[in-house]
Amino acid sequence: MPATRVLMNNLRQVMAEDGDTRSRLDHVVRLIATTMVADVCSIYVREADGALLLIATEGLRPEAVNKTRLTENEGLVGFVARTAEPIAIEDAPRHPAFSYRPETGEDPFHAFLGVPILRTGGVTGVLVVQNQTERTYGEEEIDTLQTISMVLAEIVHTLNEAPSPQSAPDRRMRGAGGGNLKGRVFCEGLGFGRAVLHDPVVPPAKFFAADQVQEAERLNQGLVDLRAAIDRMMLIDGAALGEDPRDVMETYRLLAYDTSWAEKLHEGIRAGLSAEASVDRARREHRAKLQHARDPYLRERLHDLEDLDNRLLRVLGGEEGKLLITGDESVLVARRLGPAELLEYAKAGLKGLLMEEAAASSHAAIVARALGIPAIGGIEGLTTRIEQGDYIIVDAEEGSVHIRPDDVVYDAYRSRVALRSERQAEYAKLKGLPARTLDGTDVSLMLNAGLDLDLDMLEQAGADGVGLFRTEFQFLVSESLPRLEDQISLYKRVLDRAAGRPVVFRTLDLGGDKVLPALSQLREENPALGWRSIRFALDHKGLFRRQLRALVRASGERPLTVMFPMVTIPEEYRAAKALLMEEIAWSAKKTGKQPSRLEVGVMLETPALGFAMQDLGPEVDFLSVGTNDLLQFFFAADRMTPSVSERYDLVDPAALRYLKMVAEICKAHKIRLSVCGEATASPPVALCFAALGYTSLSMAASAIGPVKQALRKVDLNAFRKGLFERMDKPNGSFRNQVLALAAEHGIDTADS
Ligand code: PEP
Ligand code: MG
Repeated sequence: MPATRVLMNNLRQVMAEDGDTRSRLDHVVRLIATTMVADVCSIYVREADGALLLIATEGLRPEAVNKTRLTENEGLVGFVARTAEPIAIEDAPRHPAFSYRPETGEDPFHAFLGVPILRTGGVTGVLVVQNQTERTYGEEEIDTLQTISMVLAEIVHTLNEAPSPQSAPDRRMRGAGGGNLKGRVFCEGLGFGRAVLHDPVVPPAKFFAADQVQEAERLNQGLVDLRAAIDRMMLIDGAALGEDPRDVMETYRLLAYDTSWAEKLHEGIRAGLSAEASVDRARREHRAKLQHARDPYLRERLHDLEDLDNRLLRVLGGEEGKLLITGDESVLVARRLGPAELLEYAKAGLKGLLMEEAAASSHAAIVARALGIPAIGGIEGLTTRIEQGDYIIVDAEEGSVHIRPDDVVYDAYRSRVALRSERQAEYAKLKGLPARTLDGTDVSLMLNAGLDLDLDMLEQAGADGVGLFRTEFQFLVSESLPRLEDQISLYKRVLDRAAGRPVVFRTLDLGGDKVLPALSQLREENPALGWRSIRFALDHKGLFRRQLRALVRASGERPLTVMFPMVTIPEEYRAAKALLMEEIAWSAKKTGKQPSRLEVGVMLETPALGFAMQDLGPEVDFLSVGTNDLLQFFFAADRMTPSVSERYDLVDPAALRYLKMVAEICKAHKIRLSVCGEATASPPVALCFAALGYTSLSMAASAIGPVKQALRKVDLNAFRKGLFERMDKPNGSFRNQVLALAAEHGIDTADS
């Protein structure tokens, strides 16, 4: 029997043993040293600060256990942890990275083989074997050690678990006080529930295969099913999107058919792993590489590979591997998540969403907001710290996550939930009342939407209509391009449910961060500045016309309002409007129907358009500020890069002066002014816009109550006067000045 299988058999027994973790580890190092004919076998575990602590050894001095600590930049062990790659050396003391620790007594050992211990999210330790003689470790030995290190990862992990001091209530699970994590609030709120990990988890009990032949067959069948699913995706009619996205899909397909990937997975099975564990091993390696890869192309491919690993795990798991959400007590934990996936989970009910990657304006975040799910993103180390089933508090007011909270933290959370519902009750009282300022200015408060389910909120939040309907969402959440009929029926449903209230349909805004899952876009250096939005639509006339036709057909003889995104120069608006007018004429001829009233507008997202409004003057009915994009272009700060996306504030004298100038041009041309970016969700920002003359504000449902409350308390003329004085003479933090002004008007700015 090959060494790996012998070891795996023995390890399986050790895993099944009851004993404490340390004695198990001692047992394991002895086993490995004997089977691999090594003089030394040691395990180092990575601590919170990155240092590597020797926790078990066969062959080094026992006194060194729990004493020898290497920093992450120290020694060959540190080298393995840093690079997440195995290293095999004939004569270790001669290697430049070698660090000698006398307490270990490792002088006589020359040959060194170290492999990373990888768990979800990264390196958690290093497994080492050493021999006295100068010898070369072969491929097979390296592979064996890597396979074993995966099993070890689970045993080592249990060491980091704080044992529960007393009999802990169920809520605490594996010991109370699992620590806090910080991130950025994507959707405000508070939630509590048990963690459900989005990436499939392979439990240690499923690591080993009872029957190797059967397991290889399962893997082959899994690969066949996976490839067939990808082939089906390729059959989707992507003609309207051109050839390039097809190339990207083709690369994905090539990876799925790659024989070296399949061979690597079979190797795992030959070593005694189950099909799932073998895929999991590959996934850990891809992830570890991803953490170190800088080149964007390589990163993209590694993401693809990780996606494939996850897909294959789901295929192997069948129904079982799908959604684990039961009832409505779950907090979803994901590294990355597409809007379609989030929607699927949300159907089963979610108390919160935590994500490692993505910026606040990513589409999973926007969907979370639409659904009102408390959500936090940009949390480093999320998937390494949270285990399936952990109890979690999602504090999406502060942007913090409490893992396995103790009683004090849990009680504080409960009182905040109570306070929050008191506030909600106050907002609910305002529902039937107008958003009228003390001095009599009426502001329309509209809803940002993009999904059918958003429309439930129209009534609930008391919105005056839909100020932004993001039509690309239907595309983003479908596996294939929505057909004309699908588009017509969605737009009809929206108009029906709005029941006469205005609905502003924003035409397709694809590209940038909104890539279709089935047909992803071309790889671009700067997607935000790239081939997106109206530029993309005008270059894909078939796709664009089909949408315009759907809008015209859905409206029938009802009023129709259409808005074009990211218009930069007047010609783009004119070209888009001309296509719309052609579709209206065509529809009138074909069906005898045309919209009873037509309004066409532009989104102000690029600074250039503000200066061009005087030329567009009489051709445009309204302008709507897309604060998300405008902010990124005005300050040249990518909205998808967390380190800069919140660096700049729209409450800034330069930005407000610009918006004031645009408002003045528009007023001169009788162009109606509105705002539909996320910024107006904050009451003081909403007040600034209202003061500048933007009297239609569109926002997420949850913002309508607080904004209405603020508007009803303010004397807008007085606020405007104060704002303009401060804009003329800014002094220190402008946001603080505006907050102080709002507070003078009796507005609660505690959360702003
Ligand atoms: C915006 O940019 O502000 C906007 C509303 O559009 P989106 O967030 O969909 O890009
Ligand atoms: Mg935008």
